[in-house]
Amino acid sequence: MSPGKRLARWFAASARDLPWRGGSRDPYGVLVSELMLQQTRVDRVVPRFREFLRRFPDLRSLAQVREEEVLEAWSGLGYYRRARSLHRLAREVVERGGRLPGSAAGLRELPGIGPYTAAAVASLAFGERVAVLDGNVLRVGARVLGLEGDPRRAAASGAIRTWVEALMEEAPPAVVNEALMELGATVCTPRGPDCGACPFAGECAALASGRQEAIPPPRRTRGPEAHRWAAAVVVSPSGRWLLRPVTGGAVLRGLWLPPLATGLGADVDPVAAARAAAGLPLDGGRAADPVRHSITHRRITVVPVVWRVEGEALPDGDGIWADPLEPGVPTSSLLAKLAGAVEGVG
Ligand code: SF4
Repeated sequence: MSPGKRLARWFAASARDLPWRGGSRDPYGVLVSELMLQQTRVDRVVPRFREFLRRFPDLRSLAQVREEEVLEAWSGLGYYRRARSLHRLAREVVERGGRLPGSAAGLRELPGIGPYTAAAVASLAFGERVAVLDGNVLRVGARVLGLEGDPRRAAASGAIRTWVEALMEEAPPAVVNEALMELGATVCTPRGPDCGACPFAGECAALASGRQEAIPPPRRTRGPEAHRWAAAVVVSPSGRWLLRPVTGGAVLRGLWLPPLATGLGADVDPVAAARAAAGLPLDGGRAADPVRHSITHRRITVVPVVWRVEGEALPDGDGIWADPLEPGVPTSSLLAKLAGAVEGVG
């Protein structure tokens, strides 16, 4: 049996049952799942994907709502830039007639769609013969072909693309792409690949030379610098927190959080910085243990500073009081981390 057919047979027998798979592939559902899956684990995406499609079953329903509602439905997935792009894209596509372009080239012209997402939607939803080279596929290809260097480099990725396209002579493009992504996620994993279960075991150069874990080589990463922030955790007598929408910066904009002081120098007192961020007449303030958080590729350390106040009076439009664990507004997972850190403080 040819490698492409073996791969397709393996996929039919072994693929995980995920809500965006099976049946006819709705291009909108494929797009939402691909955007959610970027940088986020499958088990976190599954419930969010179902709920998102229940609330916004198509591009038109998504285009009609305010950005805040989209961010709320995206809560917990992080990387909110993806949600904003999807919302902008929905509005633009609806203005142009409401149908997603059926080719990778056409999809690339939409806001927020890069080559990977365009190829995935064009292939999985429209059957275009185009390789989807995500990290999983590059790893499988590099191992099968025995490519020793970084598979992201042009020469290696070109060889892997040619190999994937040859498999597409033997099985439908959508099946080949999805099967390779699945194989990389479940069998040909970075550590301890299960070569005995792999449809390419008979021809894999890395397996033949015993170099499965050496290929691809570990990526040299420069540790991102940790940024230092402070958060003003103002707690009312009923245990609710003062939250305001973040207005500056690209990454948390529009999400509701305690007042934040960002980019603090090493010599800045976090208590004073948090008090200034709150802009309220607050005395004292107790700093809790810092919380580590990542936003996109940036690591931050946030010092929560707690004030317990006697009432819930606020100047008009100066925020809301909300339960930090169930705020009912779009927020970031940073809020729950802060809630855990300040338990019992003050
Ligand atoms: S044989 Fe092993 S190393 Fe080679 S592709 Fe399959 S799982 Fe990966």
